[in-house]
Amino acid sequence: MAVEISARFLAQTRTTLAAAPLRLFIDGKWVDAFSGKTFEVRDPATGLVIAHAAAGEAGDIDAAVAAARRAFDVGPWGSMLPPARRALMLRLADALEASAEELALLDCLDNGMPVNIAHFFAVNVAAEAIRYNAGWIGKINGETPVVSMPNQHVYTLREPVGVVGAILPWNGPLGMIATRVATVLSAGCTIVVKPAELTPLSAIRFAKLAQEVGIPDGVINVVTGFGHTAGQALAEHRGVDKITFTGSTSTGKSIVRAAAGNLKRVSLELGGKSPVIIMPDADIEAAIVGASNGIFWNSGQICVAGSRLYAHEAVFDQVVEGIARRADSLAVGSGLDPANDIGPLISEAQRERVKAYIGSGVADGATIVAGGNVIARDGYFMQPTILTNTRPDMRVVREEIFGPVLCAMRMSNADLDALVSAANDTEYGLSAYVWTRDLSIAHTLARRIKSGSVRINGGVDLDPALPFGGLKQSGWGRENGREGIELYYETKSVSIKL
Ligand code: NAD
Repeated sequence: MAVEISARFLAQTRTTLAAAPLRLFIDGKWVDAFSGKTFEVRDPATGLVIAHAAAGEAGDIDAAVAAARRAFDVGPWGSMLPPARRALMLRLADALEASAEELALLDCLDNGMPVNIAHFFAVNVAAEAIRYNAGWIGKINGETPVVSMPNQHVYTLREPVGVVGAILPWNGPLGMIATRVATVLSAGCTIVVKPAELTPLSAIRFAKLAQEVGIPDGVINVVTGFGHTAGQALAEHRGVDKITFTGSTSTGKSIVRAAAGNLKRVSLELGGKSPVIIMPDADIEAAIVGASNGIFWNSGQICVAGSRLYAHEAVFDQVVEGIARRADSLAVGSGLDPANDIGPLISEAQRERVKAYIGSGVADGATIVAGGNVIARDGYFMQPTILTNTRPDMRVVREEIFGPVLCAMRMSNADLDALVSAANDTEYGLSAYVWTRDLSIAHTLARRIKSGSVRINGGVDLDPALPFGGLKQSGWGRENGREGIELYYETKSVSIKL
């Protein structure tokens, strides 16, 4: 569905955002940071400041964790029966859908993503995640194992893990907060969310909607602020029972260190450098479209971006030319204009980082066959870029760029062992894409590629029922599906001597 934001609605939203700094949401109240500090929020399509948000720090995290603890231990949430909890979640999903245009506009202004993509996230990702997970309420239960001990009746209880801290990235702001809140609430836990400092707007609106539909005070708390202050305090906090972190692999490692103080549970959704394998028997036109969307969608700022292309030499030139044609034809510009396919990168720093990666690739001997340049205008725009003559030892092939940059590698034979070892030659293991009509090759590669997901003849798709996460340095645990909710439960064994 094409979404058009009216000039009036845009002007109203800008005025509201500029009117006063956004506040923290703690224990059902909207409050300033204890320090009184705020930070600037910029529109990456213009580089201009569009809002200010409260800069929460350790003291604010303390207050939010205490509220989440009260709501879990003594508030109405812990004792609420499944139908009531489910009904509240379904009301929240309906509220998200009813506010999809506004939420989409906030993510578009904040992150730069095209408003259509943001709208898709609001309806198909955020609201659906909440509905799907609401359906699990009351369905995760214990067992009555048969044991070898004589005269024992035993059973297990599944209990919510408690207070959860969620530290989130900026690349899909609303989808991130909604999917985390969905599983946490389904399990009966409470949550303190620390959105990315680059994109706090939709998280604040999300919290308001949760309040409006009647989610009890303290169940959802949102503390905006920086990673080294608010994020670090949340990861270290001894009152937090579990941290769910989504972000870069290097920050993920510091989260693990910070969480060690009380050995809180940790799940991590981290970076990727996902391979795309195109076999000569594939539907090449479909593969070109899929590979192109897989690296250029959201300006390549998605953790599952297919950033390493391995195409068989019989089809390599055709594939690269096809993707280059698409790259050249993509309209890059403000996400507010529905005619644009791709928005800006998130920040000036990110644009400079992507530019430096392209420079390093060229210095190492790569050839630019599409794009390669910053687009000279206000905002942080970058051309969709393809590099060929790339080698496995180059930084552009080894490191996550998190931008619209594809490294294309020619595979000289159809030896699956060589393909598998090229695909697995990475410290990441998030996703992989295989294009072939040969069932045997498809299933063999699906088994042998070391990644949390493998998509055959398809692109990046998100479904709340499909477990999502990474192997190796792409993370710990799986969000989504039954496994996603299991992350928020503990198992207790009870045995009774008869
Ligand atoms: P980031 O690691 O810089 O920041 C993520 C979050 O962590 C932010 O909220 C930030 O404030 C916070 N943070 C930073 N330093 C911290 C610290 N020392 N202690 C606690 N919190 C801290 O990542 P980013 O740049 O926001 O996001 C991009 C990265 O996220 C990419 O690597 C991408 O692949 C990854 N990502 C992964 C997934 C996934 O599901 N696997 C999804 C989206 C993004």
